[in-house]
Amino acid sequence: MDDEQLYIVINFRRDVIDMLGEHYDASMRDQYEASCPMCSESVSQDMDRCHCCEIPVIWEGSRVWKRLYGSPEAMKKKLTVFPPAEDDVAGNKLMALSGLTGFANITQRREWDRAVKKVGQDKAIQVVVWVSGQEKHQKNPRGIVPHALNVIKMTARRTKRTRPTTQS
Ligand SMILES: [Zn+2]
Repeated sequence: MDDEQLYIVINFRRDVIDMLGEHYDASMRDQYEASCPMCSESVSQDMDRCHCCEIPVIWEGSRVWKRLYGSPEAMKKKLTVFPPAEDDVAGNKLMALSGLTGFANITQRREWDRAVKKVGQDKAIQVVVWVSGQEKHQKNPRGIVPHALNVIKMTARRTKRTRPTTQS
């Protein structure tokens, strides 16, 4: 299953220390910058996003970055999303309406797939549209994903067998 990485990683050892070789000066440690692999603009260690191309930046091995943003591993997890399958119309509609690009983790994506398979695309699309209407009142489009996932799982539990996806 494809996950989508929407960030870049700058590794202090690889991209600063090894790059500079004998020119590396440990007393300058917190001041070093690296270039963004996407747009080659300078990225300093206090940035969690490239100021030029806006891609989220994770510094590994930087004490400055860690002090500001916490564990690089936790941030990677947070920024890795699991987009719905290409032919999953309901799932893609769900993402479009929520403004997200994918499910937060592999478990969510699997639960969604399982439930949609059980209830069928038509029913799943109805759920997405209904939930998105509900959440609109809350002004929280991102809440659509967990909400829709819950509703679709409950619907699947009540569904005895798979219905054909074309039932018009
Ligand atoms: Zn950039």
